[in-house]
Amino acid sequence: MLSRNPNDAMEKKTPAICVFCGSSLGYSPRFREVARDIGAGIAAGGFSMVFGGGSNGLMGIVASAAAQGGAKVQGIIPAFLQALEGLTAEEQLIITPHMQERKTLMLQMSDAFLVLPGGLGTFDEFFEVATEAQLGVHRKPIIVVNVEGYFDALDTMLRATVEKGFAKPMILELYHLADGPEAALLALREALEVPAQA
Ligand code: AMP
Repeated sequence: MLSRNPNDAMEKKTPAICVFCGSSLGYSPRFREVARDIGAGIAAGGFSMVFGGGSNGLMGIVASAAAQGGAKVQGIIPAFLQALEGLTAEEQLIITPHMQERKTLMLQMSDAFLVLPGGLGTFDEFFEVATEAQLGVHRKPIIVVNVEGYFDALDTMLRATVEKGFAKPMILELYHLADGPEAALLALREALEVPAQA
């Protein structure tokens, strides 16, 4: 079940969506299409976007599409990654001394998390917010965009973790698998209780 902290709703008018995704493009063109659609959908939905601040790979595509659609895009990047990952033209940037501060800020500044295909950094970010949700640190929705079944193996692993007795069944309710951008954006609106755009 997806739910959000009711206190957040009172404090913020524009929900901020944190996007985790690859600094690579992946091989399938579908990954790029979905990244564009997610960025455009964030803007069209009236959301702002928080992300890791880089211009590479799917991250850069989502951020550019969101900014071009008129969304406020907030990058949060540790100083040591700044030179490696570059920046998109449109974003506002917070530079943190370390990765851990970046993660803390991303969690604090966001109302929901969208996870798109990516590599180890993306997995790390997913597990960071999922483990914090498991511990009750936050109740923000985590929506995993399962493009071309990319996250099937992750879902299988997490189900096995429950079946083998290493996690409680509730962990399977901490994230929602969406099979594409439309389903992901719909799940996001439902979880945040944002009405559909006219
Ligand atoms: P990747 O999915 O490996 O392409 O990484 C996506 C983004 O995640 C990178 O651009 C980094 O900004 C970020 N990242 C990489 N490694 C880590 C990590 N250990 N913890 C948190 N974020 C990371």
